[in-house]
Amino acid sequence: MTKTYNVAVLKGDGIGPEVTEAAVKVLDAVQESQVNFKLNYLYGEAGFHCIAEHGTNLPKETVEMLKRTAACLKGPMTTPEEPGAPVSVAVTLRRMFNLYANVRPCRSFPSVESLKPNLDFVVVRENTEGLYSGVEFLLSPGVGVAMRIITHDASLRVAEFAFKLAETRRKRLTYIHKGNILRVTDGIFKDAVKEAAQKHPNVAIEELHIDAATMQLIKRPETFDVIVTTNLFGDILSDEAAQVTGSLGLAAGANIGDTYGMFEPVHGSAPKYTGMNRVNPIATIMAAAMMLDYLSEKAAAKKIEQAVLAVLSEGRVRTADLGGSSTTIQMSEAIASRIKRKL
Ligand code: NAD
Repeated sequence: MTKTYNVAVLKGDGIGPEVTEAAVKVLDAVQESQVNFKLNYLYGEAGFHCIAEHGTNLPKETVEMLKRTAACLKGPMTTPEEPGAPVSVAVTLRRMFNLYANVRPCRSFPSVESLKPNLDFVVVRENTEGLYSGVEFLLSPGVGVAMRIITHDASLRVAEFAFKLAETRRKRLTYIHKGNILRVTDGIFKDAVKEAAQKHPNVAIEELHIDAATMQLIKRPETFDVIVTTNLFGDILSDEAAQVTGSLGLAAGANIGDTYGMFEPVHGSAPKYTGMNRVNPIATIMAAAMMLDYLSEKAAAKKIEQAVLAVLSEGRVRTADLGGSSTTIQMSEAIASRIKRKL
């Protein structure tokens, strides 16, 4: 029997349309290669380019459309930076759909230079609160305040998620904070992680301050398995981790809640490369694979992953970030045709 899923596709800004179209091409290839499921794509408008026409980067029609889908593939979007402008679409969607765990796998890929070989760890970032929420105000001219709200419930929820993930992997969890300075907020986070740890005695835990963690990620990245941390620290660490493992162009992320999942590349809209057909689509293609995994189409997800690994290890198609001169389209076609050849 063929199972059909409604999935939202938000192409985004800058290089977003190029990389999401590349990922859809790969999703089409995997559906051609096996008939047990079908994706019904629902395209929605969102991003910086919507603001002039709609006065918002997330029109309400798009939100209504998202509610009719099982998951969303989201391209990167340009975030307006002026005070008072709409907040980032990713941040709004994470809050709106309560997508509390941002899961960012960091692994080395064949024939891609990484700091050390065989890296394989996952950054789990709390996704709904903390400094990244951007709750700020001006106290008086020249004096601004940003609110870092950390709650026990949100910390416990993401810690639980990270421990469960660690149990499916090498059973090691590192929790990262700045509790020596942010004693109240990171004190709450630390206590929640320790509380979750009691239910998972088979997972070995390690504690690091964020400054030491950024250094250890360079020094001994192979020792990490699952990292759990607060929102802004996780955002910064996962970009660092992407570079440690190769390129930002390869790093995918999932935003998972209890009833919805949103999947996107870790990178942004890279405006300077818009329309040049030169960026690496693999981050978005791997995000699409994570979406299939979330929808329980594990075999299809694996097929995409294996095709990506095969194309990279062959080394004939390489985008500029990997030292080659292949285009975005050539990369997605190579991966799609690998899938159709039934790897
Ligand atoms: P960026 O990730 O867009 O780009 C930084 C650099 O990384 C690029 O100049 C490029 O050299 C490299 N890069 C990024 N994606 C690549 C790819 N697919 N292939 C090869 N190289 C790639 O970061 P930025 O310039 O700081 O941000 C641009 C905009 O994107 C900003 O408005 C930012 O707020 C936004 N952003 C959005 C998201 C999101 O939608 N989730 C995430 C991060 C940044």
